[in-house]
Amino acid sequence: MSTIAAISTPVGAGGIGILRVSGEDALAVADAIFICGGKSPRALAETPLAMRFGTFRAADFRDRGYAVYFPAAKAYTGEDTVEFYLHGGVRIMRGALDAALQAGAKMAERGEFTRRAYLAGRMSLADAEGVADMINAESAAALRAAYRLMDGSLSRKINSLCDELGDVITGLEAVLDYPEETEDEVLPPLRGQIENALARVNALLATARTGNMAKHGVTAVLAGRPNAGKSSLMNALLGADRAIVTDVAGTTRDTLEGSVECDGVRINLIDTAGIRESDDAVESEGVRRALAAAKSADVVIHVVDTTDMRAEAPDFGNVRVFTVRNKCDLTSYMCPRMYGCFAVSAKDGTGVDGLRHAIAALYTEGKTADGEVITSERHKDALYRAKRALESAVKSLDGTVDCTLVDLREAYDALGEITGRTATEDVVNNIFAKFCVGK
Ligand code: GDP
Repeated sequence: MSTIAAISTPVGAGGIGILRVSGEDALAVADAIFICGGKSPRALAETPLAMRFGTFRAADFRDRGYAVYFPAAKAYTGEDTVEFYLHGGVRIMRGALDAALQAGAKMAERGEFTRRAYLAGRMSLADAEGVADMINAESAAALRAAYRLMDGSLSRKINSLCDELGDVITGLEAVLDYPEETEDEVLPPLRGQIENALARVNALLATARTGNMAKHGVTAVLAGRPNAGKSSLMNALLGADRAIVTDVAGTTRDTLEGSVECDGVRINLIDTAGIRESDDAVESEGVRRALAAAKSADVVIHVVDTTDMRAEAPDFGNVRVFTVRNKCDLTSYMCPRMYGCFAVSAKDGTGVDGLRHAIAALYTEGKTADGEVITSERHKDALYRAKRALESAVKSLDGTVDCTLVDLREAYDALGEITGRTATEDVVNNIFAKFCVGK
């Protein structure tokens, strides 16, 4: 594989900018563009994993900085790597990259360093996805879930499942070839083995909703009559004037969105047009979107004006609903949470913190004892396919061994896609295309 180079820090002015070079010729490239250690020509090679101060020579300028040589066995990519720490200026970094390319390196593609780490067997596909999730995480919960994934927690579970299924498959193949010698050993525990695998797949799938909340946040939709105070409450929850508030009924015609982090969890708030019947076409569309948004939310914040308690019971389907009695500053109710409702005042802030914590707590509620969560649609899809194949394998137990084998192989392949054991090149390409250049 050719030697690749890329700038690993974001484009812009910064204290430090990092240029990374990985591949067989990394040291040769470094020797051409970086002088350190006085007269010793291979100074970097002689001091692996040590920062060396020196001069970086680009075509039309020089900079002072550091370089570190990572020998293949200790490098992220599993190949000889040199990293250069220069002053983080846009022109400096562009010139430094050009110098590396002039010295024989090739421009790295998106995620190519991590792809090489994967190809070198230093991480599984799921671990590599964890790296991307770390970089893209926007809340502490998202970071913790990404760290687990990157650290190989899911890969270990999937690998042990795949290993066990692989053994079952090998056993069944032996039954096809030598039934008399193997049947008595292989067939009796078969049902238990498949059901056990199915239970483990189902347990992982059951964490997908919580995993989604960890990665993307808890989505809360504010719904209720016009003038109940949804926009005001959204601003109070966000702690900023994000939504436009007026006292003419029906001003919030479309959906407005904003996010805030609470207790390490990201909360995505969606303010909807007031839910009511309307002749106005724009407003009807807003109402339609409000109901649609409400039905796919993790929770609906149903805002009612506590001074205007007309009976209303919009249909939010099976979604969890928090009923919030707003404008409690106008009444004598002082209890922050009464009759299963939240009493708040968007105006003076009473009860708003409590409501924010309660929304964030919806994430904590779904966490399992061991903390494992499925955070990726790709993993969820693969687990669903494994589940269906294993269910079919259970059903096929009364039929022929061939049928069971087909189902088990399908389950094995689906699970193997998660870690990369059985992933096609397209799947792999797709994953690394989502990375940034330089990672
Ligand atoms: P929306 O139509 O449901 O989004 O309601 P708005 O947020 O636009 O609020 C409607 C009116 O109620 C505005 O005049 C707000 O100032 C007022 N309002 C909102 N929340 C409160 C509250 O907690 N107390 C009081 N007194 N007025 C509020």
